[in-house]
Amino acid sequence: MNELELTRRTRTHIEQLEDPRVALHREVVEPFLALRDAASRAGLDVTPFSAFRDFQSQTQIWNRKFRGERPLYDRDGNPRDHASLNEEEIVEAILVWSAVPGASRHHWGSEIDVYDRAAMPENYRVKLLPEEYVPGGVFERLAAWLEENLQRFGFFRPYDQDRGGVYPEPWHISYAPVSARAQAALSVEVIAGALQDADLLGKQVVLERLPLIYRQYVANVGTPPEPQRLA
Ligand SMILES: [Zn+2]
Repeated sequence: MNELELTRRTRTHIEQLEDPRVALHREVVEPFLALRDAASRAGLDVTPFSAFRDFQSQTQIWNRKFRGERPLYDRDGNPRDHASLNEEEIVEAILVWSAVPGASRHHWGSEIDVYDRAAMPENYRVKLLPEEYVPGGVFERLAAWLEENLQRFGFFRPYDQDRGGVYPEPWHISYAPVSARAQAALSVEVIAGALQDADLLGKQVVLERLPLIYRQYVANVGTPPEPQRLA
């Protein structure tokens, strides 16, 4: 991946599938379909909720949250009062749940947020909340199956536990051979370069704190348990 691909300002590394509908790094297509196949034999329909996301859409998500058009939550999932926060506090609040554009793992095409369509009651709307993936939750079986089988297909969960950075995301899976390369290549300088011309609200605050943001939210993630599948 080159710098533009890393920060997702181009989509030359991405392949668009129709069934299931998802955009992935070309090296991730086969392993993901193999994982889906195995899961379907266990009665699960592993469906992508969100995978590849470009710089522009990440910027839109960020700016909507910054303006208060989308809700901000604290670490416990309680809504925060946008009007009472200053710019620094807004940036902090966004970062718990969303990445700075250019620093999102979803730019790489190796990351997929998944749910189990087979487990859903009719008219169910997926929320992507921890409560859906814990014992008793609608996607409990998916979470257990992933835990058991992810690794066989080269995937792992970078947000498996609370490390004081991004909140745990049991639905977020990452294809290690591709994401390990991207992670190693992504630096504060690369992200700053991607942000230079961006229409990002709070950009000054973000640029000033970028080394800290990088340490707390970008580098502070789980790693694949076994390196044997790394290409
Ligand atoms: Zn995700």
